Amino acid sequence: MLRINKDNCIGCGACQATLPEVFGFDDDGLAEVINQDVPADKIDEVAEAINDCPTAAIVQEKND
Ligand code: SF4
Repeated sequence: MLRINKDNCIGCGACQATLPEVFGFDDDGLAEVINQDVPADKIDEVAEAINDCPTAAIVQEKND
């Protein structure tokens, strides 16, 4: 499961640019996960988005 630590997110848009199928923005301009069902061919982009987030705000919880 992916979630955004909104205390850290600065709304830079990098995650949304990398993976618009999964990341969007909330009304405050901060990232939100819009789709937990990551397409199978986009798994690498999830890791890329996590690694590229400048504030380490994208959290992937391991339990599912
Ligand atoms: Fe927020 Fe990180 Fe996404 Fe930028 S890359 S919008 S800081 S979660």
